[in-house]
Amino acid sequence: MKKVLTIAGSDTCGGAGIQADLKTFAAHGVYGMSVITAVTAQNTQGVIAVQDIKPEIIGKQIDAIFEDIEVDALKIGMVSVSETIETIRDRLIEHNVKRIVLDPVMISKSGYPLLKEDARKALITNLLPLATIVTPNIPEAETITGRPILNLRDVKEAAKIILSLGPACVLLKGGHLEGTATDILFDGKVFSEFKAPRLNTKNTHGTGCTLSASIAANLAKDMEMTRAVEASKKYITMAIEHSLEIGKGVGPTHHFY
Ligand code: PLP
Repeated sequence: MKKVLTIAGSDTCGGAGIQADLKTFAAHGVYGMSVITAVTAQNTQGVIAVQDIKPEIIGKQIDAIFEDIEVDALKIGMVSVSETIETIRDRLIEHNVKRIVLDPVMISKSGYPLLKEDARKALITNLLPLATIVTPNIPEAETITGRPILNLRDVKEAAKIILSLGPACVLLKGGHLEGTATDILFDGKVFSEFKAPRLNTKNTHGTGCTLSASIAANLAKDMEMTRAVEASKKYITMAIEHSLEIGKGVGPTHHFY
C-alpha cells in the first residue's frame, strides 16, 4: 500500500487540516500518516484559538516517520511560524524527500491568519524550492507575487513568477475569480487548464486542504502530474457537490470511501 504523510494543523471540526487530509487519503486507498504543526480550536463559524507545536517536537515527529517508514508522497499545509518552516525544510532535506505537495496556507476563509505575516518570506524562500507542486489560491498567489490577479491572463503571469521561485510545478486555483472554477497548472513549458462549474453552496470549508491531499495521494500512486491534478480536481468538485450542512457556518466537503 502507498504511504502518504501530511504535515499540517489540526482542525477540531474535522473539515480542514490534518483531519481533511487523513479522510482524503483514506478515500484514495492510501495509508495516511500525520505530523501536527499546530492545534486549532475551530468550528464551521471560524477559528477561535491556535497553539503552535514546538518546532523541536515537529522535527521529532518528522524523524519518527522517516527513520522507520518509506513515504511515497507528502503534503505540507498550515505551518504558522518561521521556526516551524525552517525545521520542516531542514528535516525534509535531511531525509531527501521526493514528491512534496505544498499548500501555502495563509488565511482561513473565515479570516483568521494561519501563517504569521513575518513567516510569509520564510515560506517562500525555504519551502517553495522544495515543492514538486505548490497549490496557491488567488489571494495566496497575490501575496507571493505582490501583484493583483484579476483574470486568467494575470493567473498565467503569476504562475510564471511563482515557478521562478523554485517549485517544479504550480497549480494556481482560480476559485476566487468569477464564473467557472478554472485552475491552471504550469510546469515551465505547458499551461494546462482544469475547469469545473461553479457550485452553488456555502459549504466549502477545507477545500484547499482536500485538493492538495488528493494530489499527494495520486502522486504516491505514481500518477503523472497532469493526470494526478485532473483526478484531484474531479475529486474536489465531487466533494464540494456533496458537501455537508454541518454546524451554523461554512460546512465541510464530503469524502467518498
Ligand atoms: N484550519 C486548518 C488547520 C487549515 O489547515 C486550514 C486551511 O488550510 C483551515 C483551517 C482553513 O480552511 P478553510 O479556509 O477552507 O475554511
